Amino acid sequence: MASEPKSMDEIVALCRRRGFIFQSSEIYGGINGFWDYGPLGTELKRNLKNAWWQDIVRSSAIGPTGDPLHVVGVDCTIIMNPRVWEASGHVGGFNDPMVDCRESKARYRADHLQVLGAVEPAARLYAFIANDDDQRERAQKALLKYERRDSLDALRHQVRPFTALSPDERTRCVGPDAKEPGTLTEPRQFNLMFKTNVGALEDPSSIAYLRPETAQGIFANFENVVNSTRVRVPFGIAQIGKAFRNEVTPRNFTFRSREFEQMEIEFFIHPSQAKEWYGWWRDQRFAWWQSIGLAGDNLQLREHEKDELAHYAKDGAGTSDIEYRFPFTAPDFGELEGVAHRSDFDLRQHAEHSGRRDKAKYFDAERNERYFPHVIEPSAGADRGTLALLCEAYTKDPSRASGVFMRFHPRMAPVKAGVFPLVNKDGLPEVAERLFADLRKRHVVEYDPKQTIGKRYARMDEAGTPFCFTVDADTLTNQSVTVRHRDSQAQERIAMDAVAAWLDAQIRA
Ligand code: ATP
Repeated sequence: MASEPKSMDEIVALCRRRGFIFQSSEIYGGINGFWDYGPLGTELKRNLKNAWWQDIVRSSAIGPTGDPLHVVGVDCTIIMNPRVWEASGHVGGFNDPMVDCRESKARYRADHLQVLGAVEPAARLYAFIANDDDQRERAQKALLKYERRDSLDALRHQVRPFTALSPDERTRCVGPDAKEPGTLTEPRQFNLMFKTNVGALEDPSSIAYLRPETAQGIFANFENVVNSTRVRVPFGIAQIGKAFRNEVTPRNFTFRSREFEQMEIEFFIHPSQAKEWYGWWRDQRFAWWQSIGLAGDNLQLREHEKDELAHYAKDGAGTSDIEYRFPFTAPDFGELEGVAHRSDFDLRQHAEHSGRRDKAKYFDAERNERYFPHVIEPSAGADRGTLALLCEAYTKDPSRASGVFMRFHPRMAPVKAGVFPLVNKDGLPEVAERLFADLRKRHVVEYDPKQTIGKRYARMDEAGTPFCFTVDADTLTNQSVTVRHRDSQAQERIAMDAVAAWLDAQIRA
């Protein structure tokens, strides 16, 4: 059974109030599609990225073919030779059809718009954004009012994609935020890459792009990595970095941003092993998101239908999405990570466009064979991942002073522990400060000597701090402290000199 969706407004408000996420350049009214991370959000996102790097690049896993997993890292530039994007198909191909509303000036992705109305000449149609229940209800109300009816007629009224409308039907269609029909333009292509100029001259010869994905930096360096290290197929190259897309409709908080971070792996394999490595990566990646706290039924794995597959996905292996049920997508899910078999498309494209052709092929000494390796690509978003962690963690509890607590997995929690002296006197602060200084060498911990203990717990609950250690009068006699657990609110005493090791173990668990 799916639980009640959480309120996105409340989550956004908490993010702002406690310093997880702010609007970029907020003092100037912000800028649509750009977000800043505050102190707590920065630690949270960093924990996510560090865990990914640790579990991928430093993994000791054994792959499906019995080989130990071998993945190395790269850190490539955001601006690359623009020919990279011709080879990858982004220049010319990286488009979303877009629809503008002449009345409201709003802009929509054509494939996100649906229309409600009768399929008959002269019937009025009402557009709404798919998955937006409020908009759908508004469209339905407007239709009923226009047709002077109390309810929809299941035989006449239909929901159809906007992209299926004829030009005549478009003239009878009312936009989601418009009053008059016929104000939506026909879908137009819109290149999502941000353009800039490199060097002093602003002419066509100096045009360059901000990368729309980190993957191409990896493909373009494939030969460099093979020639400079001892990697042998099967192996992977991983990268974490910024990507930029001039999204038509940035929305849903950080979910669809114009500047965001990706965590991508290109895993190079012999073509005959695509199927087993694809399945292995898909399952590994799903289990990974579970391991960092998205363990409930809000996480799902969705294998793509054959007709959804991208131009490079070949038969045999496939494409799947790891999806999270965000409050704004519920009851549906939104993509966190895609795992795709990209065949040898990218390596071939770069070999062709760079003129390196057969020289770019990989020589497999064991098989005595020269070929373009196939690629399994697990491609995740660090911002969507962070947003999923925030949404999953947000837990209401009217019995607590804070009314809400953030149930982060200890490994993800931005602050691992609070350290408090019970009272700000009698030698307790000195002992607590010593414990704080000791823990701080290894983890992000906070020292808080102010206010009542209840208020201090409440602050830590909202930040999602899993443990609080309190130094009290008994500490001075028996060298023990209380530890309070965030989720159960249970307390126990542990020896002060065991605290550091205890905390390490909890975070690793
Ligand atoms: P969507 O269909 O939602 O636009 P996509 O399929 O284009 O996503 P990919 O190109 O596969 O996304 O990118 C891989 C990952 O990068 C996504 O799973 C997502 O986590 C992240 N990502 C993509 N676009 C954005 C964005 N505009 N804002 C934040 N994260 C994004």
